[in-house]
Amino acid sequence: MLKGITIAIDGPAAAGKSTIAKKIAQKLQYTYIDTGAMYRALTYKAIQSGIDMDSDEALADLLVNTEILLIPDNGGQAVHVDGVDCSNEIRSQEVTAAVSKVAAHSTVRKMMVDKQRKLAYGTGVVMDGRDIGTEVLPDADLKIFMTASVDERAERRFQENEKRGIHSSLDRLKEEIEKRDRADSEREVSPLKKAEDAILVDTTSMSIDEVVDKVIKLAEERMEQ
Ligand code: C5P
Repeated sequence: MLKGITIAIDGPAAAGKSTIAKKIAQKLQYTYIDTGAMYRALTYKAIQSGIDMDSDEALADLLVNTEILLIPDNGGQAVHVDGVDCSNEIRSQEVTAAVSKVAAHSTVRKMMVDKQRKLAYGTGVVMDGRDIGTEVLPDADLKIFMTASVDERAERRFQENEKRGIHSSLDRLKEEIEKRDRADSEREVSPLKKAEDAILVDTTSMSIDEVVDKVIKLAEERMEQ
């Protein structure tokens, strides 16, 4: 029996991290944890409750009083906020536009990181986000930094939206992605950056299956060590 390892996948917005992470977790029968969904869930609740998104204290207080559950669902993950399935709501444009602001606060991040470490404890896990290899799981067995060109990422998000019946503008998507990357990379607390020991995977001209195969191969090497 091979041991369950911890796999950290970080990278900029819409690089395909969660699609890949989900598939890898399914193949290895590991727990998948989408940390972006946790920041999105808090942002959604802050919007609903009219909380000041510039206030670390108010957001931290809100987080203490919010139940965020990531529930395995058909190879994916449903996100429940206070007992209600908000999986679609947390992907709305309103939440996407505000989430980086919420995620920049230090107390909010500290609380989220604590929760994420607890979720990962003692199990084979694939966790994706922005600071997993650098902050949440600095001892992860395998760290991947997944990127793709911004044009490719915007195109993928465009196609994904079309499939869901949402018509969007490619230029607008590209602008939003660039803006979010800038905010996530330039923030003071745990900015998005490649961990020194992370393996860079540029998926620009790779298919989903090719990326999954590559990461599984790297994971298998780590399991044998
Ligand atoms: O991964 P996703 O695009 O859903 O993440 C939404 C936002 O949550 C990111 O743009 C970032 O601001 C924040 N985030 C973070 N740290 C993580 C995961 C997400 O700051 N580990």
